[in-house]
Amino acid sequence: MVIYILTLFPDMILNALSESIIGRAIQNGLVTIEAVNIRDYSTDKHHKVDDYPYGGGAGMVMFPQPIYDAYTHVCDAAGHKVPVIYLSPQGRTFSQNMAHELARLDDMILLCGHYEGVDERLIEEIVDIQISLGDYVLTGGELAAMVVADAVTRLIPGVLHNDESAGSESFESGLLEYPQYTRPRVWRGREVPEVLLSGDHARVDKWRYEQSLERTKRLRPDLLE
Ligand code: SAM
Repeated sequence: MVIYILTLFPDMILNALSESIIGRAIQNGLVTIEAVNIRDYSTDKHHKVDDYPYGGGAGMVMFPQPIYDAYTHVCDAAGHKVPVIYLSPQGRTFSQNMAHELARLDDMILLCGHYEGVDERLIEEIVDIQISLGDYVLTGGELAAMVVADAVTRLIPGVLHNDESAGSESFESGLLEYPQYTRPRVWRGREVPEVLLSGDHARVDKWRYEQSLERTKRLRPDLLE
């Protein structure tokens, strides 16, 4: 998979995604994450990328030309129209199901807005889906793009090792994951549940399922509905 991130802050993306599991996936060639600097495509002599909003009001709006040129450059190099996802507080709220849908793609462009966002005509022209992280406003789309890139990359076959398997994790079965424990067996007087030390896999599975159900009811009853 190739993930192109169109951004004004490519270093922010590359620094954050070069570590840990995603960094290892990049090194192993399972995913390519290319940060494309929108400013490099500005034809303005001062490399401007934003301007005042028509109709007045606070803030600046990213104008279409540099984003559109960066987009056509990526598509020309890829040899086809690459699907474009605009990170926006106005989009569909991101979920594990959406991460699975995106993980089936060969490539995608994650477009990061900044300031007041991007000119509406650019959205109409190139954007296929708008994705939001939640009902709050960030200063830019970079953190949202990194969240999407991380959640999608870890679903690519081979990215997680067996001991990091995604199978039983929260949302995969519609439930939150059961509680996890490691050494020591007793910590500050708190003991690891006895069943986890029993070696009885059927009992462990049953206990974990019950715990998943109980904590989903308690913490996220909306998932059960
Ligand atoms: N004026 C826009 C509005 O009110 O809908 C908000 C613009 S926001 C300050 C700047 C950029 O941050 C957006 O273009 C978008 O790329 C990103 N952004 C902000 N909040 C986000 C969220 N909840 N999810 C995804 N991206 C977000």
